[in-house]
Amino acid sequence: MSLSRIKEAVIGSTEIVVVSHEYPDGDSIGSSIALAKALSQMEKSVKVIINGDIPLEYRFLTGIDDIRRPDDVVVNKESIMIFLDCADEKRAGSQIDAYRKRCRLSINIDHHLGNTNFADINHVDISASSTGEIVYDLIKLLDITIDKDIANALYITIVTDTGSFRFDNTTAKTFNMAGYLLTMGLDFSAIRINLWENKNPNSIGLLIDVLSTMKFVCNNKAAYIVATNEVMEKWKAGYGELESFINYPKSIKGIEVAILFKEIGMNEIKVSFRAKADFDVQAIASYFGGGGHKKASGCTLNTQLNEGIKKVIEYLHERLI
Ligand code: 5GP
Ligand code: MN
Repeated sequence: MSLSRIKEAVIGSTEIVVVSHEYPDGDSIGSSIALAKALSQMEKSVKVIINGDIPLEYRFLTGIDDIRRPDDVVVNKESIMIFLDCADEKRAGSQIDAYRKRCRLSINIDHHLGNTNFADINHVDISASSTGEIVYDLIKLLDITIDKDIANALYITIVTDTGSFRFDNTTAKTFNMAGYLLTMGLDFSAIRINLWENKNPNSIGLLIDVLSTMKFVCNNKAAYIVATNEVMEKWKAGYGELESFINYPKSIKGIEVAILFKEIGMNEIKVSFRAKADFDVQAIASYFGGGGHKKASGCTLNTQLNEGIKKVIEYLHERLI
């Protein structure tokens, strides 16, 4: 129902701003590029905004250079804004929330549990593996031909958000979509090489240092790792390089919850949570002002690193034991 409302809104607009969240990942980047390319085929004027560095592995995508920072884009009263993969109005950055208040119409397309339905039109489907899966439906509804560039971008949304079709958010629809994208000419080996076989040698040094911080807590039901500013500087690493590291503590027998603490600034840490089976880490992240999914969530804490670790582990301990 809301997808057809979105279709009407798109058809009735000339200027469309596509935005996604800070610390972008494969789903936010891929769904933004795919939708922007599709809207350009409809001869719309399209701008794409993401506040944050694009991790190296996604920079090979055609269309990546069209992504702008908030400061470089003017959103006027005629624009409509489409938010992708944002659970709330602050996820894309506070400057973008100000743009939202100014634009003619805002649209929210997302798959996160606890999405705040912050826009004028909201399409939130928590059964979708990724926001890209919903963008795929929208593109088809708009009768746009999925070319190789759109296929590459959409494939990246599902392959990253499902952990290469391993997580429980993978459905028959996800596999069908992947199969369809393959028939539309996606570049399977370029995606594999860029995403997983193109690492900077430093990122292995970073992996060794970060894994050496691993601690087992909550009666060995949880394990966490820490990426300090110091180690990030030592290896000249970007935060995107940490993305898969949390899978190592999660891969250990008996571990129910894995956590990664990333130090961003003196009093800012980003926390990632992953659950293996039934434990709900979205509830943990929400308690600390974040969100996400039952099995993958995150939050930002404005505290000093060790204090943040202590608070999170204490809270988790009471719920996991
Ligand atoms: P990651 O740990 O990979 O950064 O994020 C895992 C999931 O949690 C993603 O779906 C992401 O959107 C969500 N998430 C991460 N950080 C935050 C946050 O600060 N706020 C909210 N609402 N969701 C987050
Ligand atoms: Mn997503």
